[in-house]
Formats: sequence, C-alpha cells, structure tokens
Amino acid sequence: ASVWAKVPQGPPDAILGITEAYKADSHPEKINLGVGAYRDDKGKPYVLPSVRSAEKKVVDAALNKEYAGITGVPEFTKAAARLAYGSDSPVIQEDRVAVTQSISGTGALRIGGAFLERFYPGGKTIYIPTPSWANHNAVFKDSGLRVEKYRYYNKDTIGLDFEGMVEDIKNMPKGSIVLLHACAHNPTGVDPTEDQWRSISDAVKEGGHYPFFDMAYQGFASGDTAKDAFALRHFISEGHRPCLAQSFAKNMGLYGERVGAFSIVCESTEEKKRIDSQIKILVRPLYSNPPVHGARIASEILNDSALNQQWLGEVKGMADRIIKMRALLKENLEKLGSKHDWSHITSQIGMFAYTGLTAEQMDKLAKEYSVYATKDGRISVAGITSDNVRRLAEAIYKVKG
Ligand code: PMP
Repeated sequence: ASVWAKVPQGPPDAILGITEAYKADSHPEKINLGVGAYRDDKGKPYVLPSVRSAEKKVVDAALNKEYAGITGVPEFTKAAARLAYGSDSPVIQEDRVAVTQSISGTGALRIGGAFLERFYPGGKTIYIPTPSWANHNAVFKDSGLRVEKYRYYNKDTIGLDFEGMVEDIKNMPKGSIVLLHACAHNPTGVDPTEDQWRSISDAVKEGGHYPFFDMAYQGFASGDTAKDAFALRHFISEGHRPCLAQSFAKNMGLYGERVGAFSIVCESTEEKKRIDSQIKILVRPLYSNPPVHGARIASEILNDSALNQQWLGEVKGMADRIIKMRALLKENLEKLGSKHDWSHITSQIGMFAYTGLTAEQMDKLAKEYSVYATKDGRISVAGITSDNVRRLAEAIYKVKG
C-alpha cells in the first residue's frame, strides 16, 4: 500500500469553493461576492496607481536580489510601525516596538501565535470573537495555542453584542490573550464605537489580559488610516502593550505580494532588543527571511511623501466606493418595497456586509440568481458595482422579501 493510503480527503476551503461554483456558472450576469478582494466599479481587480508608480521606481532602481535580513526590509518595517502606531506615538519615539516583516497578515498572525506559544507567561489560550475571520482558529491552533471564543455579534440586532463582549472579557481567566479586530471586523463589518472601545480597553485592563490586534484593513474602513487605528492607539494611551498583525493586502491592493508586519510593543528599548532576537530565532527555521519585492513597493509608498499622499487618496477612493455601494444596495432594496430594515448595510464598515440572510436564502441566491457569497450571509461589498447593484437588490428581495 502507498505510504499515504491513510490520508483522508479534506474538505475544500469554504471561500475558494464559492469561486469554483461561480466560475462554472454560465449566467451572463452572475455576481461573485465571496472573495475579499477589492474590485473597481467595472468589477475588475484594481492595481493602485501609487503601487504602479512605486513598483516602477523599484524596478528602475535596478536593486540586487540579495536576501533581506530575517526581519525583512528595515525601511518598510519602520514605516509600517509608524503607520500603525502614529509617528508621534511614545512607543515609536522611545524606540520600543519590536517589528518584523511577515508573509502578509496571515503570516503576522502566525508569528504572533508562535511567539506567544513560546514565551507568553500566562495561560496559552487566545480568545477570538464569535464570529471571526475563518482562518483565525486554524492559525492559532496550528501555532500551538488553545482557541476560545467571546461574544461579539448579536444576530437579532445585526449589530454588536457589546454587553456580552465586555462581560465575556471580564470573565476570562486573568491574563488571557484577547484577539481584537482593529477595524472593519471580518466577517460582520460591525465595529465598536470609540466609546465602546474605551470600555473594552478598561475591561481588558481589569482582567490583566494581553491584547493582540489584527489590523488587516487600516484605511479601508473609513478611508482615513489614523481614524482606523483609533482602537490600537487608544489601548496604548491607556498603558496596554499589545502586539499587532498588519496586512497591506487590502489597503495597498498587494494581495499576492504578501506584504505584512508583526510587532510587539515593549516596555523599553532593552526589552525590544531581547524580543527582536527571539523573533529572529523563531522566523529563521520557518522561512528564513521574507520576500523583498512587495516590501520595497510598500516602502516607497510609505516613505516618499508625494506617493504617500497619492496612496492615501486612493485608499479613500476605495473606501468611498464601498460606502457608496452600501447606500445604493440599501436604496434599491427600499425602492423595491422591502419592508425589512436594511440600515445595518450602511452602518457596517469595511469590505464586508453581514446581510442577515440565512444559509437557505444564500443557497437560493446562488442556485436561482447566480449570486455567490458565503453561507453565513456575508457579502463582499467590494464586488458590488453600479451595473450589478440593481440585479443584486432584486435577487435579495426575491429570496427575503
Ligand atoms: N485578518 C483578517 C481579519 C482578514 O480579513 C484577513 C484577510 N482576509 C487577514 C487577516 C489576512 O490576510 P492576508 O494574509 O492576505 O494579509
């Protein structure tokens, strides 16, 4: 028998399965709202003009292809930390953030998981929201952490279960690790308000917990990178010393370039040096050192002030188009005479909307109307365009009323 005779067939990835079904559908006006990637108003993948310019600069510089250091391209990681924490943040000014380049946001989460598994002195359980990005559970489990949940989404209000969330945080064993989506919560699009974040920070402090921020959408939620970093920066101003996973997949549209960063806020520069040394020891046997091309592009955008201004405008452009599509979808549903309250479509934020549609209704959307999205009722608003929004609203109206 083959050595692999006992390897069982695994289930397909939930989201990639949707793309398969979408591809196989011959409907001329089929709509794919499964994938979490930005599309322009023609439904096409979008390469930011600032990225094109930055890439041209990188290519024209004819740099060599030598290895980066274990923690990546330093001009990139320094700029990434400034973007997240703010250049005037004491943690930046006092040089106490340990930062490493990562294989996009997923890789950052994985390094974080592995670091906590190795060094976190408290209980090695990480609490993630219900629901959370589907990969969080797998990433942290495979890093050797236990994964538990806290309440987050209230399906009756299609909003935040704020009381439940705070209560669960307070009831976690002292010193637990808490994963927080910094902004544009995936999959629900439901974020705490700034006041609610203040209370969440207090609850995390009261429990002596350790906050781990996942910031995969900085700038993408509101169109303003500083505003989207509010939660992270507020926690720091309250004396927390969190760790952070950053992704440049969405806000720079660098999906396949895999550009990200993982950082840990330390007590001092001396502590930062020790942490840095251990991150290197952890990364070296994982993948040795990260790829340079995407990080060089991001570095140009973050460090060249003209390109940076241009990029911020383009991020806002993407965020605004999404906000506009939310409004159009709601408006079209109301015009059709839907009696449901669709205000959550416009109050939610970021790339996704949690429609509140059931798995059966989502199934019907796919089978009868060739509209594809995940069974949990999540739709990628980035896949909606001026041309397909009417047909989408009609399909939703017909399955839900
Ligand atoms: N965290 C969250 C919440 C996400 O939605 C995503 C992207 N879907 C990621 C992390 C990581 O994505 P990537 O590895 O492509 O940066």
